[in-house]
Amino acid sequence: MSQPSQFAVFGHPIAHSLSPRIHQGFAQQFGIALEYRAIDAMPEAFAGAVRAFFAAGGAGANVTLPHKAAALALADERSEAAARAGIANVLTRLPDGRLAAHNSDGAGLVRDLTERHGVDLRGRDALLLGAGGAARAAAWSLLDAGVQTLTIVNRTPETADALADAIGEPARVHTRYWQDLANLGSYDLILNATSAGVLGNGLKLPMSLVGARALCYDLAYGPAAIDFIAWAKAAGARHAWDGLGMLVEQAAAAFELWHGQQPDTEPVYQALRAGI
Ligand code: NDP
Repeated sequence: MSQPSQFAVFGHPIAHSLSPRIHQGFAQQFGIALEYRAIDAMPEAFAGAVRAFFAAGGAGANVTLPHKAAALALADERSEAAARAGIANVLTRLPDGRLAAHNSDGAGLVRDLTERHGVDLRGRDALLLGAGGAARAAAWSLLDAGVQTLTIVNRTPETADALADAIGEPARVHTRYWQDLANLGSYDLILNATSAGVLGNGLKLPMSLVGARALCYDLAYGPAAIDFIAWAKAAGARHAWDGLGMLVEQAAAAFELWHGQQPDTEPVYQALRAGI
């Protein structure tokens, strides 16, 4: 009998990762036998650990903090989404043994918004808080999905400017200073792509940002998203969601890449939701 295909998620720390559970849940839908491990690798050991994993027959890997930039750097091929984001969260062994890098975060975000939450992104004026890796992936995908304007505000303004320059659509993409948030008026879609919640630092955001019927979305999920969601609801947002659905959808995009099958994400999402 052939061995089950080998998959893994690399990160540091990684014990908390939901990826093994998500991928096993998808695999069960198709009767696919796979092994999916969580591998804790320090930054200096990451490239070696990845190469050892694939040399031993690994078929694909997810990559999370702090290794997403290193994953892109070590790959032999890069998808457009990974190149644009500047980071990769998916590595796949090609038939000739070389490694391909992909980024499924932006697609995962857009799928969660449009398919799970039924949001039509076209024509929306969006505010993106943060300009790190997740924000970069999100920015391109939101624009592809048709948002009318995207205003990027980052604590370090140079990073927001660099992202806007890289996108190169000055008519649609603007940057503003964090200290001016109270003067920006309101938006109908607000995305928190900062790691403030994960780091346990609350964001002080003016309620004036939240327009009538605004949708608010924190890319973080669980306890890390509680403050932002409470702020959004207090400010009158029509809906406030966390990023658990994005996590499941980005995993589904990787699963499709590896197995050529589109899983039903809802039961996996609901099981995780019940657990947090
Ligand atoms: P990065 O470290 O790449 O970027 C962090 C961003 O947060 C930077 O823009 C940083 O600003 C900003 N930031 C950090 N602390 C503060 C603060 N106190 N006030 C204001 N801004 C702050 O992280 P990622 O982009 O990888 O992750 C960002 C978030 O997205 C995390 O919550 C992560 O969990 C979530 N995420 C969710 C995914 C999902 O599937 N649901 C997938 C990937 C990420 P500066 O440039 O000034 O340092």
